Amino acid sequence: MSASVTAAGFELALDPEESDVVVVNTCAFIEDAVEESIDAVMDLATAWKAGSDSRHLVVTGCMPSRYGVDLEGALHEADAFVPVKQEGGLADVISKLTGAPVAADAVASRIPEGATAYLSVSDGCDRACTFCTIPLIRGSYASVPEGRLVAEASDLVSRGVRELVLVGQDTSAYRDDATGLPELVRTLGALPGLDWLRVMYVQPDGVTDRLLEAMASTSSVCHYLDIPIQHVAPDVLRAMGRGGGEEAFLDLLDRVRAAMPGISLRTTLIAGFPGETEHDVEHLAEFLRSARFDHAGVFVYSPEEGTPAATLEGSLPYAERLARAQLVRDAADAVGADVAAARIGTALDVLVDEAEDGVPAGRWRGQAPEVDGVVLLDGRAEVRAIVKVRIVDSIGYDLVSEAV
Ligand code: SF4
Repeated sequence: MSASVTAAGFELALDPEESDVVVVNTCAFIEDAVEESIDAVMDLATAWKAGSDSRHLVVTGCMPSRYGVDLEGALHEADAFVPVKQEGGLADVISKLTGAPVAADAVASRIPEGATAYLSVSDGCDRACTFCTIPLIRGSYASVPEGRLVAEASDLVSRGVRELVLVGQDTSAYRDDATGLPELVRTLGALPGLDWLRVMYVQPDGVTDRLLEAMASTSSVCHYLDIPIQHVAPDVLRAMGRGGGEEAFLDLLDRVRAAMPGISLRTTLIAGFPGETEHDVEHLAEFLRSARFDHAGVFVYSPEEGTPAATLEGSLPYAERLARAQLVRDAADAVGADVAAARIGTALDVLVDEAEDGVPAGRWRGQAPEVDGVVLLDGRAEVRAIVKVRIVDSIGYDLVSEAV
C-alpha cells in the first residue's frame, strides 16, 4: 500500500499530526483483534480527526474484507473502507477524499524502516483449519512473484535494512511446490548487503529436508524457525482439521535440530478448543516440557462466526478457555525462561532495534522482532548496528548483556 500510494505522488508521514489522511490497516482474525482495530479508529476519530473536514480516516485490511457493508453502516467515523483485494486502489480513494490529483510519474517507496523489514511472500491460505477466518477473509493462496520480492528486498537493503523477515499466512506453500520456499531462501539469502534473513510461519509439513538444507547452507539465514503446531492431542488436532501429533512433532524437531544444531524454535498454540479435555491440556503442557521451544505464543480459542469450529459441540466457557491457555502459557514460559538462562555466558551478535522502556535493546539471530524476547544492552548503540555482546543474565525470555 505504501508503494502504491507513493507511486501516485502522495507523501508518507508517520505522525498523524503531519497527515491529511490516516490509514488504519486492520486485523479481523479474531474478535479481540476486531475490537482493537475499532478502538484504533475511534481513538483517531476523537483525538486526531475531531470534526475536521480536511482530515480523512481510511480503514483498510481484513476488517472491511470480513464485514463489508455492515461495517460501513456501523463505523461512521471512517471516511472510506478499502478491503484487502482492493488495496491497489487506495491512491484513488485518497485522491477522491482530498481532491489531490494522482500523479503519473512519482516514484514508489515504503515507510522508512529501522533495522528490520517484513517481506510478504504470499497472501491467503488454501488450508482449512476449522477455527480460522483467514481463508474467508483473504481468499485462496497466491504467491508474490519472486522477481518482485527480489526487487523489493534489494530496495530495502539499499536503504539500510539489515534483516528481512519473510511472512505470509503459510510461507511453506510458496509457489505451490516443495522447491518454492527453499529456492526463495537461497535467492534472497544471497542478496549483497543483507545480514539476516528470517522465515516465519512454516507449517509443520512444510519443513522439508530441502528447506532445512537451504537454510543451513545460506549464511545470512537465521537458524530460527517458527512452526505453528496449535496442539498435540489427536482428537483436538483432528477437530481443528490439522495434521501431526506428538510423535510426528518430536521427530520433526529432532530433524530440524540435527540440520541446524542450536536452532531457535518458536511455535503457536491454541487452548480451549471445543471438545478439548483436561487431559488434552495436560498432554499439551507435558509435550512443551519435552519439545523445549525457545518461544511460544499461546492463544485462547476464539469461536469465530463463519468457521466450522464455531458450530462444534463441546464448546467451553470463556473463563475455562482462559484458564487452560494460562496453564499452557505457564508451561511454555517456564521452558522459555530456562532456555534463555542457559545462554548466560555465551557471546552473541545483536542487531540493535529501538530502546525497550528506555534501555537500548536488540535481538540475536534466535529472536524474531515483536514476538520473541530481546537482548538488553548495557550501553548506547546505534540503531541498525550489529554489536558483539556477552550474555550475563536473563529475565524471562529476555537476555541481559554487556558489550564485548
Ligand atoms: S494454515 Fe494458518 S492461515 Fe491457513 S487456515 Fe490454518 S491457521 Fe488459517
